[in-house]
Amino acid sequence: MVHKGESVNISLRKINKKNILKIVLEKGSISRTGISKYLKISRPTTSSYIYELIKEGLVEEKGKSKSTPAGGRKAILLNFNRKAGYILGVMIGVETIRIALSDLVSNIIRLIKIPTEEWEGPEVVIENIVKNLKELIKESGISKENFIGVGIGATGLVDSKTGDVIFSPNLKGWNNIRLKEIMEKKMDLPTFIENECRIQAIAEKKFGLAKNIKNFVCVETGIGIGTGVFINNRLLVGNKGIAGEVGHIIANITGYRLCHCGNMGCIETLCSTRSLLEDIKNDFKKIGNKSSDIKRLEIKDIYNLYKQGSEIVVQNVEKNAEYLGIAVSNIIKMFNPEIIIIHGEAIKFGEKYLDLVKKSVAKKTFPKVKDVYNIQFSRLGEEIGIMGATSFVFTNIINLENLNIAEYYIIKKT
Ligand SMILES: [Zn+2]
Repeated sequence: MVHKGESVNISLRKINKKNILKIVLEKGSISRTGISKYLKISRPTTSSYIYELIKEGLVEEKGKSKSTPAGGRKAILLNFNRKAGYILGVMIGVETIRIALSDLVSNIIRLIKIPTEEWEGPEVVIENIVKNLKELIKESGISKENFIGVGIGATGLVDSKTGDVIFSPNLKGWNNIRLKEIMEKKMDLPTFIENECRIQAIAEKKFGLAKNIKNFVCVETGIGIGTGVFINNRLLVGNKGIAGEVGHIIANITGYRLCHCGNMGCIETLCSTRSLLEDIKNDFKKIGNKSSDIKRLEIKDIYNLYKQGSEIVVQNVEKNAEYLGIAVSNIIKMFNPEIIIIHGEAIKFGEKYLDLVKKSVAKKTFPKVKDVYNIQFSRLGEEIGIMGATSFVFTNIINLENLNIAEYYIIKKT
């Protein structure tokens, strides 16, 4: 029988060990004395927890401190053992799926990209992901039991609590897909699913421009427009995972273009790369360009034509930036973020495009609050999604049913 006092002690041990692990992770290269002072727990108690964490393989002794108190010995420094486990990350995009293997702090060890071939439908797409994940594990030579989980970022409406993809407007047949359940059965690993924009926001919070920011919004640009929102340091998910679907806010009630979600006049129909390309093609047609040339035009050609100053392209890109600015202005009024970080295809148009977005925002937002927001391009590069997906697994496992990663890892190993 467990006495009341005993269970309090167990919880206290859990909390202390978890806090030590967090400090070692956040600070890196910290001594036992440093940890004990920081957490205000006694030096012997700190040492006993650290002894356990070292035995479990999560913390390692690495190097000694440079200076010492007068006459004292140099302190041994402790670091998080980032190779105590490995994580699998997947980003399901409309055109490309990225599949990666990382250490516990999201350093990518191996990455592969495969075409999504979304027209094949969810069953084939998922089978393809599983096949590639299994191959990745096999090739790595890392034993399966050293993997702690799979993190997946998916485009569309995702209920992260159930791990279901409710609906993905740009992926054929993705309606109520029980992705978490399917993946856990096929991979035999805990799996965590989140919408791709929220995954990007998780990455910005942990590694990027939003590291020390409580309220911010990430805006994904490309075939779809979406957002990941943090309010008071918490990711906004909403009741069913719909929160942040800015791309499907109706911005033009006389909108003539049908959106993939089934509505007309969504923001996405005004400033996605798909609508930009369509508008440019129509304008080229109007001035009599050969239809075979127009048909061949792809979005990557548009970046070049923009840089070369093609009049039609410049006009349409400017209009696209103005619409994106309207979307950002709406976001500012809705969430009042400290920073808005723009991701995706828009970055390829360069700083001039960002200036146009800022100008449009300034025109459409309250003039008196001009300096309370900051709009920037993301600096995390193309693998931001994988960084977010893998770090999402790590964060979830630390909090998994109040177990800390140490205990979880031990369960996996035995
Ligand atoms: Zn829509």
